[in-house]
Amino acid sequence: VSHNKNHVIQDAPHRWRNIEELVYKDEDGAATFKDVTRRVLFGEDHVDGMEVRYFEVDAGGHTTLEKHEHTHLVIPIKGKGACLVGDEVLPLAMHDLVYVPSWAWHQFRADESEVFGFLCLVKVERDRPTLPTADEITEMKANAEVAAFIRHQ
Ligand code: MN
Repeated sequence: VSHNKNHVIQDAPHRWRNIEELVYKDEDGAATFKDVTRRVLFGEDHVDGMEVRYFEVDAGGHTTLEKHEHTHLVIPIKGKGACLVGDEVLPLAMHDLVYVPSWAWHQFRADESEVFGFLCLVKVERDRPTLPTADEITEMKANAEVAAFIRHQ
C-alpha cells in the first residue's frame, strides 16, 4: 500500500500511520519541560509554509515557558489542560482554540490526572524561542495567578 502523504490516517486514538513520535525539543538544552512528545502531521510542502504538529503532555507535565516572534494556533484534541498566554491563565478543553500572539509568554500544562494533547499550527520558517531571564520570571510572578501556574525549572 503506497503512503499518500496528503492523507494522514489515525490508526489508534491520537496515533497516526507513518508518523513517528519525536522528542519535544532536541535543540536547546536550556529549555525546561516535562513529559512532552511531538509528532509532525504535516510538515513543509503542504499548507503554504505552515506545519501542523501534535503535542502530547502526560498528566502533570508541561511545555517550555517561552516567547518568540512567530505565532501559534492551538487546538486541544485530547484530555484537559491549561495554558498561560501573556498574563492570562486559560483552562483548555477538547476543541477549544487558542491563539498565541507574537512575543506573548506561553506555557501549556496537562491536568494532574489527564493526558493533554493538542494540535499546533506554526510557520515552517520561524525564530527560535526565547526563555525567560530571572528578572522576567520575577516580573511574571507579580501576578499571583501566573506565579501559581508557571513551571520554569
Ligand atoms: Mn512556542
